[in-house]
Amino acid sequence: MKRILLVEDNADNRAIYGILLSHVGYDVVEAVDGETGIALARQRRPDLILMDISLPRISGWDATRLLKEDPDTAPIPVIALTAHAYPRDRKLARELGFAAYLAKPVEPRVVVEEVARVLTAPRPVALPVCG
Ligand code: MN
Repeated sequence: MKRILLVEDNADNRAIYGILLSHVGYDVVEAVDGETGIALARQRRPDLILMDISLPRISGWDATRLLKEDPDTAPIPVIALTAHAYPRDRKLARELGFAAYLAKPVEPRVVVEEVARVLTAPRPVALPVCG
């Protein structure tokens, strides 16, 4: 069973995404702020993190930056969940190494599809393809 860490401070969103992901067969771990999210990522080693951007204590941007700086948590794919889909945010999300970027409100079906896509996506390999 794949484990998903859901970092979301809004109780309604946390309930919706948490119930949905459990229902389709994931082991869901929940965090209500960025600091707890980082701690649980280190302790529970999720296969994927769904990260709200606007979070108390440590924002989703900073939490993801810290996770990507730590070799133990850097390989965990992180999907950003944000209320604001500004072009500059998409650019920052790419630079910070987010695997995907979803603008809220997100249809539940899209969350499930994106999680499945990122979990099965091949990881980039260092070797060039030679003909
Ligand atoms: Mn939030």
